[in-house]
Amino acid sequence: MLDKVTRLLLVEDDEDDYILTCDYLEQLGSHTFDVEWLSCPEQAIGVLSENKHDICLLDYRLGASDGLEVLKRAVANGFRGPIIMLTGQSDEMLDSAALDAGAVDYLVKSEMSSGRFARAIRYALARREVEDERVERLKAEAENRSKDRFLAHLSHELRTPLSSILGYTELLMQSEKNQHAQNELGVIYRNGKHLLSLLNDVLDLSKIAADKLELNCSDVNLDSLMADVYTLMRVSAIDKGLSLRFESQQALPLIINSDATRLRQILINIINNAIKFTNHGEIVVRAWTAWVNEREMLFFSIKDTGLGIAPEKQAIIFKPFEQIADVESRDVGGAGLGLAICSELLTRMQGSISLESTQGVGSEFTLSIYPGNIRDVERQRLRFDSNPDYQQKLTTLTTHGRVLVVDDLKDLRILVGHMIASTGADVEYAENGKQAIEKVAAAEKNGKTFDIVFIDLHMPVMGGKEATIELRKMGYQGPIIALTAATMKGVKSELTALGFNDMIAKPLDSGLLYHVLNHYICQGKTDPVVARDDCPAITQQSTRYLLVEDDSDAAQITQLLLESLGVETVIAASYKACLQTLHTDQHFDKVLLDMHLPDGEGLDLAREVKQLYPNLTLVIVSGAEPEPEKIEQLDIDQVLLKPINLGLLTQLIEG
Ligand code: ADP
Repeated sequence: MLDKVTRLLLVEDDEDDYILTCDYLEQLGSHTFDVEWLSCPEQAIGVLSENKHDICLLDYRLGASDGLEVLKRAVANGFRGPIIMLTGQSDEMLDSAALDAGAVDYLVKSEMSSGRFARAIRYALARREVEDERVERLKAEAENRSKDRFLAHLSHELRTPLSSILGYTELLMQSEKNQHAQNELGVIYRNGKHLLSLLNDVLDLSKIAADKLELNCSDVNLDSLMADVYTLMRVSAIDKGLSLRFESQQALPLIINSDATRLRQILINIINNAIKFTNHGEIVVRAWTAWVNEREMLFFSIKDTGLGIAPEKQAIIFKPFEQIADVESRDVGGAGLGLAICSELLTRMQGSISLESTQGVGSEFTLSIYPGNIRDVERQRLRFDSNPDYQQKLTTLTTHGRVLVVDDLKDLRILVGHMIASTGADVEYAENGKQAIEKVAAAEKNGKTFDIVFIDLHMPVMGGKEATIELRKMGYQGPIIALTAATMKGVKSELTALGFNDMIAKPLDSGLLYHVLNHYICQGKTDPVVARDDCPAITQQSTRYLLVEDDSDAAQITQLLLESLGVETVIAASYKACLQTLHTDQHFDKVLLDMHLPDGEGLDLAREVKQLYPNLTLVIVSGAEPEPEKIEQLDIDQVLLKPINLGLLTQLIEG
């Protein structure tokens, strides 16, 4: 404060008083003043409206003019600084008139030599500072609020068209007519998904920048969290021929307090990188606890035998946007935001991340989180990749036999194969119907016939139906199970007629897969196909949803997807249309509400619908996560985050 110059405007028509005032001001040790002196009231009004002074001392009597008038006009013109009125003699009426007109204080000139003058100036300036800070804070808060609203809106706006892109692509990929375009559709689908994950990263980062990223901490079962991550990551590791091991040398708390979603996101990101940048060898994930600064922290390390990271790059990979040159010049996807987000999240989890890496040898990321007070929590030696819980979750089924899995989509093929292999069966793969026929023929010839064949219906070169007809012609007697997303009426009987024994709907439910395996391999049944009633994606009874969505593309694709899952879907394109529809017809199992409608907000509509029809089940469909309190207040049953896809809708129907 001492070296800051205070700009002061003195409006005074008496030169002697000006000189005197300057003297007094000089004696004030607390401030250094840069004084501008004006004697003309009109000029003063003009200068004050420029708002470049920190404080104004205004004489009441200015020649023929009245200082009060100047004061009023200065305030009306928006002068933000404090104005202190000066007068020759004390006058109570004038005092209150000046304060009413907006002056912060009123001083008799004879008091200028006293401490009162110094105090008046100090208080006025201090008040101005507080006021300035308040204005700045309000401005920043308003900016943040609009930034948040903008981000939420942008996120919704970007997810809505992405829903259409991904949804239609998914549908096209399933149609037999598009077999020739599977590769191209696959490219669109993968890129759409990639765009979505980039969008999520950028949104995460902007939330972090705005300090809006909040953790949702609760009790988390460490064992099942790690088992989930393992199950997910193991498929990609197997796919690249890598071994993935999870281990812990010491007993670990069964329950920790953390944000499960974020912890999973961090582990998946780092293990994913390890798999992405490793071509041979193994990835080992370890967990342990250790005391740091009198707190017991939970540590994880992820070690790979991959490419390693150059020392100069190690310094920047945790910083967002800094690796842009690298990101621009390489062909592996990714915006280079993943680790920066992990690092920020870990800081919020009261932990940290570090890296040791040698090029050509491998990298080891070590991260820590504060798991809450775990002193009294039960501990066990967890072996995430082989603990009983995890085994239980996957299956208790044991099979011996040879299984052929036929699917053109590598990820799916490997996933199904992995599930089956975990029961003990030998799995072989084929990418299309033609290859499947060749494999079956070769196996029969060698006397190593397949005990069961799982085959996708829509594949390039030769689809599942043609292949099954051919296999039956060749005399293959084993069960053939169709993997299909088409679950419309009539499909089952058509498949039976073609020679299939059973069908399983996609997205695949592992429980059902094991059920089928048990039925056909363990119990050796080969009864002709009757499609399963417990197929998760097939709704037997007529289910009806009301879909409130103004974007016609998004509405149409959601309707198509729902109808492909057997749900009759009625569309309402606006707030009003929804109420009109419900007025005449409330026979809906669920009402799906978009957040932003042209004539109102989804949450307001939800409130109104809930009041009118309390028994209806409401689901909010949103491009951005709505505030949890609002959802709770409104008694909303579920929130679906765009983009909508078959998997999400299947869960919605089942749940
Ligand atoms: P991206 O989403 O682009 O992969 P990340 O922030 O997750 O971004 O990773 C940043 C970069 O750090 C990667 O592009 C890669 O160059 C490097 N990197 C991360 N993990 C590993 C690893 N395990 N081995 C080698 N390089 C890695």
